[in-house]
Amino acid sequence: MPDSDENSWQMLRGYEPFSLCDWPGMTSAVLFFGGCNLRCPTCHNALLARHPEKFPALDKDDILRRIAQNRKWLDGLVLTGGETTVLPGISLIVQDLWKTGLPLKLDTNGMRPDIVRAALKFAHVRMIAVDIKGPWEMYPKLSGGAVSPEQARKSIEELLQMARKQPERFTFRCTRVPGLNDKDIRTVASYLPEGLTLKLQEYVPEIRL
Ligand code: SF4
Repeated sequence: MPDSDENSWQMLRGYEPFSLCDWPGMTSAVLFFGGCNLRCPTCHNALLARHPEKFPALDKDDILRRIAQNRKWLDGLVLTGGETTVLPGISLIVQDLWKTGLPLKLDTNGMRPDIVRAALKFAHVRMIAVDIKGPWEMYPKLSGGAVSPEQARKSIEELLQMARKQPERFTFRCTRVPGLNDKDIRTVASYLPEGLTLKLQEYVPEIRL
């Protein structure tokens, strides 16, 4: 059964009206969606990722109204989580947000390149921020057993292919979580083609919601 518009929004569990750090260089509003297909032991938002039911669902119309009220101060909207690409009907959410007139940034762990490919068809999806967890062989440990080295390589390489064609729409990040050393970070950086650079993030073990 196709997802209805309302079903698509039911995993919206958090809203930050203004952020200066979630989309570098942009003042953004951040929409947090619950659920994730990975189980990273160092997850920065584990409760939202694993137990979204612990957060009340937010009302779509109320959030759209609040975005409209702040529209003149905002440069864009960030969709994050949890993991945005596992949302049922993410394309409907993206379509709804087109009406705000603001560009979107999607944060993703990169394991659903098919969803990213579909999202890129929307011109207002201006930025895809992909988290590469570490070297391929470390994915089972870093993802809590959810992703094999082969899966990780295949998914991220698909995204890198897309990024070669539209580098301005991608950013790749790696968080220096406990267990990742400098050599691991260099290995991850070596996966990126010329013209793309890896953004290194320091690990902050905090729950944002
Ligand atoms: S992919 Fe992100 S949200 Fe999902 S478990 Fe890992 S760190 Fe948490």
